Amino acid sequence: MKRIVVVGASAAGLAAAETLRREGYDGILTLVGDEALPPYDRPPLSKQLLAAEWESDRLALRTSADLAALDLDLRLGVAATGLELTDRTVALADGCEVPYDGLIVATGVRPRRLPGEGAHVLRTLDDALRLRDRLAPGRRLVVVGAGFLGAEAAAVAWRLGARVTLLEPAPVPLAHAVGTEVGEVLTRVHLDRGVDLRCGVTVTEVTEDGVRLPDGELVEADEVLVAVGSLPNTEWLDGSGLPLGDGVLCDEYCETTRNVYAAGDVARWYNPLFGVAMRIEHRTNAAEQGMAAARNLLRPEARRPFAPVPYFWSDQYDMKIQAYGFLRGHDEVAVVDGDLAERRFVAVYRTGDRVSGALAVGMPPKAIRLWRQAIAAGAVWHETVRAEASVSEAS
Ligand SMILES: Cc1cc2nc3c(=O)[nH]c(=O)nc-3n(C[C@H](O)[C@H](O)[C@H](O)COP(=O)(O)OP(=O)(O)OC[C@H]3O[C@@H](n4cnc5c(N)ncnc54)[C@H](O)[C@@H]3O)c2cc1C
Repeated sequence: MKRIVVVGASAAGLAAAETLRREGYDGILTLVGDEALPPYDRPPLSKQLLAAEWESDRLALRTSADLAALDLDLRLGVAATGLELTDRTVALADGCEVPYDGLIVATGVRPRRLPGEGAHVLRTLDDALRLRDRLAPGRRLVVVGAGFLGAEAAAVAWRLGARVTLLEPAPVPLAHAVGTEVGEVLTRVHLDRGVDLRCGVTVTEVTEDGVRLPDGELVEADEVLVAVGSLPNTEWLDGSGLPLGDGVLCDEYCETTRNVYAAGDVARWYNPLFGVAMRIEHRTNAAEQGMAAARNLLRPEARRPFAPVPYFWSDQYDMKIQAYGFLRGHDEVAVVDGDLAERRFVAVYRTGDRVSGALAVGMPPKAIRLWRQAIAAGAVWHETVRAEASVSEAS
């Protein structure tokens, strides 16, 4: 293999490029990114950067010397606009056609928007700086969507003294992901601080003065942040023949078609550990999948299924949430350690007869790491959870 192109210059794309070099690939390595900045980290955007605790320079994923050492054909500030599978070329917005023998797609996701103008979204450094500039004590911020991103931004804005309203269409925020009881606990933290959280509220439109609800009511705001989920960046692949459908569809090796792989938020791949196809929007997964895709592309004879236990964290106020596994679609939740009411607990999740996930709030990392191992080992629920529960009862 003499020419490899990686499209998307963020967590997954960078990890892929570094892995290729580390594994001995010495051909041409083109890294294409539509953002002008070298790769930077997104999780701090809704945490330390928004809170003005960190400045932009702390977000860089690598120094310029690290990037130079990778000997990249680096194309920043230019989007990939098309893929020709037969000729094996990627078309760029500047008119270049870049040939490849191997391709890794790592174009991530972008925020969903609502009808109307003027709302903030939170995906890029510019987005975060723009919102940060507008947050000040007493300013009214309406956050639409109480998922992890909306909740983190609401928490920071509250700490900065803004008057925060959090609007969520579901009766209990995050219930579809973490279950109703855990969702309620994660929700109460906002109410305790005096954030005006309203559930079961759908927003139809963003206006100059706030957001409009279906019955015509206007919830007034100085600033509106829309955090209602995201869409995979796959439009540039439309018509290419790559299988698409809420992401780039891949097999368990992260391959989508011969010598074309996908990684990170944009990739929907079959995770054999859980026996389902999934698309994960987590920082750790992006890096791990970038590495896995690069290795499999480079050494197809020794390729290995990508079968991780996904990991996610979120910081809100003084609450630290950590989760392992695949919680969506779970059948049962059990609290195996701590106490929900005290907001210090480990909850584990059952899907079928397996332990499929674990979520901890306010617990030491080792309290949940054991559960990570159980998930990785495919532990059977009725053996593992009952035994664990009786241990904690006995102590
Ligand atoms: C505000 C915020 C907070 C977060 N907090 C957490 C957290 O606490 N914990 C956690 O686990 N995860 C968190 N995440 C998620 C995490 O940041 C993502 O999972 C991770 O960034 C995914 O990396 P990626 O490389 O797959 O995609 P991205 O980071 O989305 O990068 C894709 C890159 O490709 C570029 N691109 C898109 N289309 C094209 C094209 N056609 N041509 C060229 N380039 C293109 C994009 O502009 C982007 O630069 C957070 C995300 C955000 C936005």
